[in-house]
Amino acid sequence: MKKLYVFLGPPGSGKGTQAQLLRDSLDCVVVSTGDLLREEIKRATVLGKKIQAVVESGGLVPDEFLIAIVEPLLSGLNQKSGAVIFDGFPRTVGQAEQFDQLLTSLGRSIEHVLYFDASLDLVLERINGRRICSDCSRTYHVAYVPPKQADVCDDCGHALIVRDDDQADVVRKRYQAYCEQTAILRSYYADRCVVIDTSRTLDSITQMVQETFGCGHRS
Ligand code: ADP
Repeated sequence: MKKLYVFLGPPGSGKGTQAQLLRDSLDCVVVSTGDLLREEIKRATVLGKKIQAVVESGGLVPDEFLIAIVEPLLSGLNQKSGAVIFDGFPRTVGQAEQFDQLLTSLGRSIEHVLYFDASLDLVLERINGRRICSDCSRTYHVAYVPPKQADVCDDCGHALIVRDDDQADVVRKRYQAYCEQTAILRSYYADRCVVIDTSRTLDSITQMVQETFGCGHRS
């Protein structure tokens, strides 16, 4: 991998949307631990059955499960030619410390951490319009990032759905988990953290993110 980036921020802050846009426009791989965990749940694997209740109630999955998912991916990612973005991982200090150790053993380090800052009110408003593809997990927003055809994925044609954990009460719990366990990573990564103000328009957020990646303005 050329460079490694981490996207950090509360649920619904738009980090997944920006990761998707970069994947569409650059030679890069996006690893979303949320997508990987939802896939385990959908396939009803041993891990999926263990984590379903915690994901659906808005809590964080225990660190050891996340490391068990991420560790086997790393050597393959290290062989890739482009950039790699981790969306939603690490999410606790324990995950960040173990991630550092794994990266050090590969002679790698994180280039930048993009911290998508968003208030609870903004998050609730954004998540209210969020839709996700039932098959490939691409994310949309009914007003800000609409599909070309209502309720149908642009990429694979499958139906768009509302995520089980996107109801307001679960979102509040996810936001609380974020404040208690993840927000501290902003100071953990202070030396390489770029803060993105997500109350701005989608285009200006995209521009700022793309500048961090050295790929300039988007018309
Ligand atoms: P969002 O960023 O909108 O909360 P994600 O798709 O990244 O959505 O995550 C959905 C859920 O998956 C989280 O609420 C949590 O239960 C679980 N999850 C994802 N990544 C992690 C992680 N790094 N550590 C613990 N739990 C995670």
